[in-house]
Amino acid sequence: MAAQKMELTSLKKYELPPLPYAPDALEPHISKEQLSLHHDKHHQAYVTGANAGLEKLEKARQEGTEVDMKALLKELSFNIGGHVLHTLFWPSMAPAGRGGGGTPGGALADRIDQEWGSFDRFKAEFTKTASSVEGSGWAALVYCAMTNRPMIMQIEKHNNQIYPGFKILMVLDVWEHAYYIDYRNNRAQFIDAFWNVVNWDAVNKRFENI
Ligand code: MN
Repeated sequence: MAAQKMELTSLKKYELPPLPYAPDALEPHISKEQLSLHHDKHHQAYVTGANAGLEKLEKARQEGTEVDMKALLKELSFNIGGHVLHTLFWPSMAPAGRGGGGTPGGALADRIDQEWGSFDRFKAEFTKTASSVEGSGWAALVYCAMTNRPMIMQIEKHNNQIYPGFKILMVLDVWEHAYYIDYRNNRAQFIDAFWNVVNWDAVNKRFENI
């Protein structure tokens, strides 16, 4: 019996979200050229890759052919992980002095103090997390619903070492493609610069909306 033909045009695909600010808005900490390339080329590549993976699955289902599930799901995990994390990354930042930088407020400030003792201790641990990612990856502030505690997570690539299901409150991309134009190979300088553009209001809202 022939595989039933599915209507594929109605299936939703991944889309590149627009930056929530102008591409030069984070200067001098992140240049327009760096941010534009990162968003328009690198993030776009994960969106394209994720959709290509979905299309491979859909085509095989239509034709009734087999798929190398292990290989395809590994590829999808990488590309969807990249897309999801970049989608969280852009709104984790805002122009310095206009919503970006400083220290957190609201409920998140209290919880950071409770968990880490001080914002400075949290900042130091998060900085160390980001600087010590082996190869390409991310640092993330996450929330554990089982313990009701904020935690730090280090992600390798886009999809390894993740605590499954923990809500991500803030991410910092430390792939070289995030900083190579502005800081060459100096990841530490990029991490220092990041603290000037963290959008604490947005991060706090994500925390309060858990
Ligand atoms: Mn990136």
